[in-house]
Amino acid sequence: MVELVAERKQMVSFSTQAKSAVVTKKPIFQTRDLNLWYGEDHALKSINLELHENEVTAIIGPSGCGKSTFIKTLNRMVELIPVVRISGDIVYREKNILDKSYKVEDLRTHVGMVFQKPNPFPKSIYENIAYGPKIHGIRNKKFLDEIVEKSLRGAAIWDEVKDRLHENAYGLSGGQQQRICIARCLAIEPDVILMDEPTSALDPISTLKIEELVQELKKDFSIIIVTHNMQQAARISDKTAFFLNGEVIEFDETNKIFSNPSDKRTEDYITGRFG
Ligand code: ADP
Repeated sequence: MVELVAERKQMVSFSTQAKSAVVTKKPIFQTRDLNLWYGEDHALKSINLELHENEVTAIIGPSGCGKSTFIKTLNRMVELIPVVRISGDIVYREKNILDKSYKVEDLRTHVGMVFQKPNPFPKSIYENIAYGPKIHGIRNKKFLDEIVEKSLRGAAIWDEVKDRLHENAYGLSGGQQQRICIARCLAIEPDVILMDEPTSALDPISTLKIEELVQELKKDFSIIIVTHNMQQAARISDKTAFFLNGEVIEFDETNKIFSNPSDKRTEDYITGRFG
């Protein structure tokens, strides 16, 4: 725990100046008494969380505790699974996305997602990024070129790919593919980026690049990241939610969670006593 706190302090000292300018952050997602069942399996139990814009929120907890299920409810991806039943509210920017009238296609233009395993399309780097904007009706070549460049720059991969935009994205390394997936997300100008263990399939150098990128991206986006890596949560997040058996045991400033958790179960988990 001491090492985590020391590492965390270093990170905080370099980001304090940027943060001090921000006075109040608006909520992006509020979940109210959110419950989810897979058939009889009660996977999320009365989750009440308020997540804020321009922050990185880490979701931590042992395998099977509902982390992935939770973020997949935030873009309503989880409801593609037939046995799923959900109750409660998920308020995104003041609208309940679980209301029948809320269109899931609208939600997906605001909430992008990056998965554990990089999943670029089997297309050129350019087409991977232009795909979303094209679906949204953008046809002008010059405008598309601008979006592609801006998104690739935003995902810190422009310099590595600018001379090979028309090559297949499958030819890139895993770490580069993951940044292409982040760029693909940025191309639709989302409000929130959900990340489900985005670095767990990557080597340490690629992981570091993504972690640095997350710090940059939070200036313009809100990021919710599932990670089983506690050092990563301590390094990059502002707030941390600790999940256990489908419940939120503790949600607080990351600094507090990793230095002085309120709940014994949080302390046991972050000190490696279980999980
Ligand atoms: P985590 O991301 O923390 O590892 P998950 O959200 O994947 O946890 O899983 C939470 C619980 O929901 C587990 O008990 C898991 O078995 C169950 N679960 C997850 N996905 C499905 C599914 N597609 N069908 C049935 N049960 C599932």
